[in-house]
Amino acid sequence: MKSEFTLKPERCKGCGICVAFCPRQVLTLDTLGKVYVANHDKCIACGQCELRCPDYAIFMDKVVPKKVQRFDETTGLSITVEEAEK
Ligand code: SF4
Ligand code: SF4
Repeated sequence: MKSEFTLKPERCKGCGICVAFCPRQVLTLDTLGKVYVANHDKCIACGQCELRCPDYAIFMDKVVPKKVQRFDETTGLSITVEEAEK
């Protein structure tokens, strides 16, 4: 599961609540004290940041990998795999 973020820096007051509640240390505050996605690869798309922000300054969307059918020559079966990222 991957995630995409929409940040609204004009609403962020730099309280750090989202940073504190993130279980994977994905978020931090930048030099202006605004939320910043520092470790996107570690995000587990739990949604705590969006849920906890009192100012609606961060939104997280889950990105569900697209599934495709492939023919497996070894087994002769059709298998379902996640589409490779571009
Ligand atoms: S969705 Fe969860 S893991 Fe990802 S940044 Fe927000 S709180 Fe952290
Ligand atoms: S995004 Fe929300 S919770 Fe995170 S620092 Fe900004 S105002 Fe606080």
